[in-house]
Amino acid sequence: MTGEGFKRVRQMVYMILLAGMVVVLGLVDQSSAFESHAKLTNQVPALKANERPSQGKLQVAGADQLEARFGGQLDQVLAEMPDSIDPKDWRLILVNRQALLDKEPDFEAAQTPEGQVYDQRLQGDLEALMADARAAGYDLRTISAFRSIESQAYNRQHQYETYLNQGKSKEEAERMTDAYIAPERATEHATGLAFDWLSQAWLDQGGGLDDSFVEDPAAQWLADNAHKYGFILRYLKDREAITGYEFEPWHYRYVGREHAAFIQRYGLSLEEYLQLARYRDQVKSGS
Ligand SMILES: [Zn+2]
Repeated sequence: MTGEGFKRVRQMVYMILLAGMVVVLGLVDQSSAFESHAKLTNQVPALKANERPSQGKLQVAGADQLEARFGGQLDQVLAEMPDSIDPKDWRLILVNRQALLDKEPDFEAAQTPEGQVYDQRLQGDLEALMADARAAGYDLRTISAFRSIESQAYNRQHQYETYLNQGKSKEEAERMTDAYIAPERATEHATGLAFDWLSQAWLDQGGGLDDSFVEDPAAQWLADNAHKYGFILRYLKDREAITGYEFEPWHYRYVGREHAAFIQRYGLSLEEYLQLARYRDQVKSGS
């Protein structure tokens, strides 16, 4: 090799090393950003706080289904609905596998005692719920509230890689990730309006975010009372095809007291409530 050629090769090696360093530094920087986010929002038990999406396309409740469901009562049900139901109302934002978020909605952040972030506008109702639960003998803990789209994407990627490392095929890893973790733009935790709650008693006996929490007296208290503070049980039993998620006795969503009262009275999912409102508007406008 000539002296000139040798110099060229040496320059190229330097360039490659330099490019490699830039990539590595970039990765380190990114993972530490994720860590600090995790620290900020996960000071309570390190439980997996992910939704469990059901499979298949979501069913949309049409006029026929609503009539079949409420029968002769439908007129009365419509008359009892809150007067103004604006789907653009910050409390009524719908997020599911068909209504994806482009970005997190803007909100002023408040924090639970556990360090979980949520929309400050619901602070009064949240604190009232917590205080009344405590007075009734239930020490509720917020396991998860706001999670950014970015951190949800990171959770999914991490879970996918864990499955690959366990020897699963790419297809299998993808299928399992989809079965247990909501797509990043389909999780309503990104709105700052969703909460995963368990009781301290449940945690003390080793309980986690699973169906059996429904047997904990605190879960029953929440199911009976959360609506009084504006929160609804979001992923109902037997409504998986409409909400797109499995039943989750721990996941509550803020919609405000007036909407929650009606939703609770008729045992609706948020999807059905908004559908019913749309139906009423159609009936009113005579179409
Ligand atoms: Zn949740």
